Amino acid sequence: MPIITYGGQSYQCPEQVSVLDCLTAPGVTIPSSCHAGLCQTCLMQAVDGNIPASAQTGIRNTLAAQNYFLACACYPEEDIVVTLPSAGVGKYSATVTGINHLNADIVCLQLLPDTRLNYKAGQFINLYKDAENARSYSLASVPEIDEHLHLHVRKVPNGLVSQWVHNVLKVEDRVDISDAAGDCFYTPDNTDQSLLFVGTGCGLGLLYGIIRDALSQGHRGMIRLYHGCESVESFFLVEELKALSLQHANFEYTPCVSGSDVPPPGYTPGMVLDVALKENADLTGWRVFFCGHPEMVSSGKKLAFFAGASMRDIYADPFISAPKSNVTELLTA
Ligand SMILES: Cc1cc2nc3c(=O)[nH]c(=O)nc-3n(C[C@H](O)[C@H](O)[C@H](O)COP(=O)(O)OP(=O)(O)OC[C@H]3O[C@@H](n4cnc5c(N)ncnc54)[C@H](O)[C@@H]3O)c2cc1C
Repeated sequence: MPIITYGGQSYQCPEQVSVLDCLTAPGVTIPSSCHAGLCQTCLMQAVDGNIPASAQTGIRNTLAAQNYFLACACYPEEDIVVTLPSAGVGKYSATVTGINHLNADIVCLQLLPDTRLNYKAGQFINLYKDAENARSYSLASVPEIDEHLHLHVRKVPNGLVSQWVHNVLKVEDRVDISDAAGDCFYTPDNTDQSLLFVGTGCGLGLLYGIIRDALSQGHRGMIRLYHGCESVESFFLVEELKALSLQHANFEYTPCVSGSDVPPPGYTPGMVLDVALKENADLTGWRVFFCGHPEMVSSGKKLAFFAGASMRDIYADPFISAPKSNVTELLTA
């Protein structure tokens, strides 16, 4: 059984147990969030021993070359000595420049980083509440259009970081953020391709960023956005999206209300995924983006594929918040 050494202590790591679980189960504090190899909050560095290549999926080449890896995705095959990243690696300081309510549960948090952040609309950054607690938030801003970073943060009941954003953070506060990561963004390789965007709740933020990016880069193909919420009061950016559709003949916006049989004019009744796929039954040749509730995103990916979209043209960002896995049995076996 491989031994993980961290902070001078050794921990036996059974097969099927990640470095993250192996260290946190006995009480070591390692920052983490999604537990699914996505958010990169649990970045660590191997200072001795080899880590499997799969533990470096999605991280920057420059970090991978220095043996950084994702602890939640690392299942060691040999003894390793690991540390947390040196202070400052992949981290930037930023000033809060705005916190504006989009609806009762979602705020747009605006940040101005001290150093210019290289990112694309639709990628995500990690926002640190403190040294140990960070969460991922998608970028709704477009670097070429918006001076500041825009994050749409939904208030989660009893949520550590989202409640802090809503209730504690204020303009001019200083915060730490990470490098941007993620591959859910627009690339101008086929500007005539039709684009379908399907989002729920605050998943709209990322899609709004990608759509504005595509339009500003001169995308000529049809762009259709379907945004789903349970009630009419929950929609946001409605006027901005309507204005965008008036400015661009190739952009259409359909707000879908799931919780009401007869919504007011301008809103379509039904679950957003059902409406989007009914109105766009043949997705052959389309590029499709999903963002929001993990179940909608997971079903959407499958259904878009069955409707003809190629897997390489399906992009998705589920707002995963995986519970910490229960590894006690494996560790004590
Ligand atoms: C790549 C990525 C991008 C993301 N982008 C965004 C974004 O743009 N905007 C945004 O608001 N969130 C986004 N998230 C989710 C975000 O990272 C946090 O998980 C979320 O804000 C909750 O964190 P918290 O600290 O407030 O709650 P926690 O303290 O982590 O959780 C508190 C409780 O709420 C439950 N919970 C956590 N998250 C949710 C949820 N989303 N819905 C219902 N229950 C939940 C937990 O299981 C727990 O019981 C993203 C996640 C990922 C992985």
